[in-house]
Amino acid sequence: MIRIEEVIATVSGNRPNADIDLIRRAYLFSALHHRGQTRASGEPYLVHPIAVANILAEMRLDEVSVSTGLLHDVVEDTLVDIDTIRSYFGDEITLLVDGLTKIANISDLSKEKQQAENVRKMVLAMITDVRVVLIKLADRLHNMRTMQYLKPEKRERISQETLDIYAPIAHRLGMGKMRSELEDLAFQNLYPEDYKRLAIEVDARRPELEAALEKIEATITEQLTANEVPFVRIEGRVKRLYSLWKKLKKQKIIIEQVYDLIAARIITENDRKYCYLTMSVIHNIWTPVPERFKDWIAIPRDNLYQSLHTSVIGDGGQPFEVQIRTEEMHHVAEEGVAAHWKYKESNLGKKEEDEALDRLRKTVEKLLLPLVEETRDNEDSEDFIETLKLDLYPKDVYAFTPMGKVIQLPRGSTPIDFAYAIHSVVGDTCTGAKINGRIVPLRSEINNGDVIEILTTQSSKPSGDWLNHAVTSRARNRIRHWITQQQRTESIDIGRKLLEKEAEKFRVPLKKLTNNETEMKRIANDYGLSRPDDLFASIGYGKTLPRNVLAKFLGAEKFSELDPENQKQTRLKTGMKTGMKAVRKLIGMGEDAIIVRGVDNLLTTRAKCCNPLRGEDIIGYISLGKGIVVHNKRCKNVSQLMVNKERIVDVEWAKSEKEQIQSVQLLATTENRTGMLAGITNAIADIKTGIRDARANVSKDDIGMIEVTVEVYDKKHLDKVVGAIEHVPGVIAVERINI
Ligand code: MN
Repeated sequence: MIRIEEVIATVSGNRPNADIDLIRRAYLFSALHHRGQTRASGEPYLVHPIAVANILAEMRLDEVSVSTGLLHDVVEDTLVDIDTIRSYFGDEITLLVDGLTKIANISDLSKEKQQAENVRKMVLAMITDVRVVLIKLADRLHNMRTMQYLKPEKRERISQETLDIYAPIAHRLGMGKMRSELEDLAFQNLYPEDYKRLAIEVDARRPELEAALEKIEATITEQLTANEVPFVRIEGRVKRLYSLWKKLKKQKIIIEQVYDLIAARIITENDRKYCYLTMSVIHNIWTPVPERFKDWIAIPRDNLYQSLHTSVIGDGGQPFEVQIRTEEMHHVAEEGVAAHWKYKESNLGKKEEDEALDRLRKTVEKLLLPLVEETRDNEDSEDFIETLKLDLYPKDVYAFTPMGKVIQLPRGSTPIDFAYAIHSVVGDTCTGAKINGRIVPLRSEINNGDVIEILTTQSSKPSGDWLNHAVTSRARNRIRHWITQQQRTESIDIGRKLLEKEAEKFRVPLKKLTNNETEMKRIANDYGLSRPDDLFASIGYGKTLPRNVLAKFLGAEKFSELDPENQKQTRLKTGMKTGMKAVRKLIGMGEDAIIVRGVDNLLTTRAKCCNPLRGEDIIGYISLGKGIVVHNKRCKNVSQLMVNKERIVDVEWAKSEKEQIQSVQLLATTENRTGMLAGITNAIADIKTGIRDARANVSKDDIGMIEVTVEVYDKKHLDKVVGAIEHVPGVIAVERINI
């Protein structure tokens, strides 16, 4: 168990001017309020805040961070409130504790939405002050180190969360050491068997690997010395178990096939020229593997990581990796943003310190903000978390504009991402792309070093389909934003038409209402909306009933007078039918016309869930962004849709000249006897009907289950097919499935 005096000694060692008194006060406050609480291990709770403070002290963070480490669970786990913290410790610590308390409950992984929301909150809190993320990571690290006392389910959940969120954030911030430890601990807890097996396998090879490393180190030392290239030290390492495990799984290989099981790292003095000199010596000793050389010094990774990587063929023909970097680069690689504190002069004035913090905050913003910035208003949380996960693992590619500007993108990016990375307008108006001078489809994956020219047309618009090919959050958000705009335009259109249709029922001239700007505005205001378009949109979304809008326009008396419900008598006399009038139109797909009663000129699409067949009973549902979606009346989704009654519209099949073929899936239950499948397919072929697919299964209770996909024109045709199958001896029943 760590004592507070050790923490204080570490802080004073690193920062002679630190306010040690603050740390002591935070310690006493924490001890007082956590008094009597215990951890799962049975130890006093205070052990945890002290350990967290110690991790922060070892990261050379300031006394404010260390004190916050001591206080980080006080508001969350005791009766102390945030105002009490403020009165004792001031605004700076309060802000940090508050940020930590807000993200304390990010643990319900079962609910993706909640997780997404929490991650978003967390990232935003972290951007406010980078120390929030460092303290949170220290907190998580200590919890991971001591999780053996927790129940297995809890251990699993926390480990998964660590792999999904915390390790990637550490990685994003360049904190290599933190990331490695979090990943290895999570791996060990999530997949204990794989971990044990792999550990045994690696241990069995260890003497051999270490001997090889020793030999490599000796050769490098000898050659660098002979060539008078100075270096600080050489480190040999065996690949971490988690990254080894990931590699074996991903590439489906065995441990013997892993070429980078061992690696050497050469740390040079703080001048990049020594890195390049060292590299040339290495390439002189061993032959480099072509295309495995990476210069992260000239083009640093966006988490500021810098290093030269090269793979060479070792003496026994076994390739291994060599990393070369300066001492300073090495610190950044290990500590990431936290490294910024390391080189800070301890006698820095308050102003310089503020400036340093400010620079750091900007860096963190640059790394984390793209994860949330345009997503904040976005409703689609699941999409957000997917995008986030993708962005957190930057396996980047570098591509160039024709002018030679470097654009850094995650692996898997396409010209769409590239276009949006240049400018949102370039993305929006992009129509094609040339990679290395050749025209390519927009879905093409970008490779390192590609020169990409984006072709644009001013009038061109993004396509929803691009979401399948864009991977960066920047591009995806922009495309989604555009789709949302589109949906609004469309719902305004639908709303206007629904209102006009209602007006027609009341025999109020259509345009008299919708063209009366002042009246429309008054009614919109009544609904708390500012413009007529908002009102139309609200009707189109199904939030506002057109009937109610009309009532507001006509006034109660006139409304009731004109209400067709009250006019049945009149109508019968004149022989006029209800206001509903079938207006021909609306082509859904191809020649497949569907008439929407009473509403002209709306987009219709066939519901994918039930794929209604010509002649079947159908129903229309006004769906956001898709116009009217036509479902089979028996579709399992229809009852749910009925909840929004105002969005249901009557639709019917229009007469069509051309007949359309459609695939329909049928399930025949049969006696379990041989030749059933052949009998059924023959019966279908006999009535000249196409078969797309047919497969036979036997259920547990010995019933034959034969699934056939047939090609039919309409309901009548389908009925004929069903009849034919029913007549096959042994068939018990036939039904249409997947609707
Ligand atoms: Mn904690």
